[in-house]
Amino acid sequence: MTTDTNDKTAPKVSFVSLGCPKALVDSERIITRLRAEGYELSRQHAGSDLVIVNTCGFLDSAKEESLSAIGQALNENGRVIVTGCMGAEPESISAKFPQVLSITGPQQYESVLDAVHRAAPPQHDPFLDLVPPEGIKLTPRHYAYLKISEGCNNRCTFCIIPKLRGDLVSRPAADVMREAEKLVAAGVKELLVISQDTSAYGVDIKYATSTWKDRNGEQRELRAKFIDLATALGELGVWVRLHYVYPYPHVDDVIPLMAERKVLPYLDIPFQHASPDVLKRMRRPASQEKTLDRIRKWRDICPDLTLRSTFIVGFPGETNADFDFLLEWLDEASLDRVGCFRYEPVKGAASNDIAVPVLDDVKEERWHRFMAAQQKISARRLKRKVGTRQQVIIDEVGPSVAKGRSMADAPEIDGAVYVASRRPLRVGEIATVRIERADDYDLHGTAAGF
Ligand code: SF4
Repeated sequence: MTTDTNDKTAPKVSFVSLGCPKALVDSERIITRLRAEGYELSRQHAGSDLVIVNTCGFLDSAKEESLSAIGQALNENGRVIVTGCMGAEPESISAKFPQVLSITGPQQYESVLDAVHRAAPPQHDPFLDLVPPEGIKLTPRHYAYLKISEGCNNRCTFCIIPKLRGDLVSRPAADVMREAEKLVAAGVKELLVISQDTSAYGVDIKYATSTWKDRNGEQRELRAKFIDLATALGELGVWVRLHYVYPYPHVDDVIPLMAERKVLPYLDIPFQHASPDVLKRMRRPASQEKTLDRIRKWRDICPDLTLRSTFIVGFPGETNADFDFLLEWLDEASLDRVGCFRYEPVKGAASNDIAVPVLDDVKEERWHRFMAAQQKISARRLKRKVGTRQQVIIDEVGPSVAKGRSMADAPEIDGAVYVASRRPLRVGEIATVRIERADDYDLHGTAAGF
């Protein structure tokens, strides 16, 4: 398919966004720029001028998904631009799909746009060059991801993100606040703060202070520090959810903000394991901190704190004793939401040769035992909410029941609250809900107060 630059219709771009929320933010940036330049977004590859595939290269299974998305785009359209994590290893794509128009790595927005301009030159139409002030978001209008930094200074042995994305680069605090204020002004009710290591925010720029004019026109200054940023975001009057926090000692400071509801009482901490030997081989940040004691103290200050985490079972060298330690730890920690992965060797990761690999059937068995143990804990924690009143943000409305999330539920990864209501609820509204029932993952209740 070719693009006739004299044709008055705007060039159409179909977009596939794969991978984590961080990749989603990259996609949103690219799309915002394209829309500003007059491109139209299409839901279908066929009939579009080109397809952009934002890939994920973290696990082998994610790479396969990315390759299959590229293959599908080539079949259905033929003009394909690839970007994202997998683009950091362009040969793995070009060997299979030499006809791809351009391959770039993560955050290379300019290169992606250059490739789009070459393949389908923009139409200059001032009426098309309008973009809503908050940019184009792929997430529903009432919540948005806020990326505060790129890259990572840690070197966890199973992870190739620092290789793909480089060392930590924090955004100036003023930039983050400007974006957050714009999103709130555009109607966003929940900000999800993301990065690779949120609690390390600002380390690379020595917590530099930056200034901006806030939404009331006042000159403000702010240090690029985790606690300062959390406090400033907490003043915006919307839900603020913190993802990917490591239990460094200074994380304790944010718990009082959670108790006061300035930020949501929700911490997403990827613990990955509990056995000291495994954590050492994983080279996890802040793994020496006495985590169980810390969790206890956090809950003393903020009793309804929700803790979400992810774990890896079957890491090379993991013994039965390591695994039993993990299960005991899990029981004590009593986390609310947990994801668990079987260890998968990622090409280029140091962990692949670090110790004897765990056999696949042992990995499988441990995964099932882990999930069964955690499921009971999660269900127990969820049941405690029956009979309480919860604030619920509404994500979808149906004819008789709406679907939403409590403060304990992040979009896409946690459970839901199903809300019956006598009056129609609106997407993005925060309703008070009487919780009547819990099943393994979700809550059910009725909107209160009318
Ligand atoms: S903290 Fe570890 S797992 Fe997370 S991005 Fe950095 S190196 Fe990877």
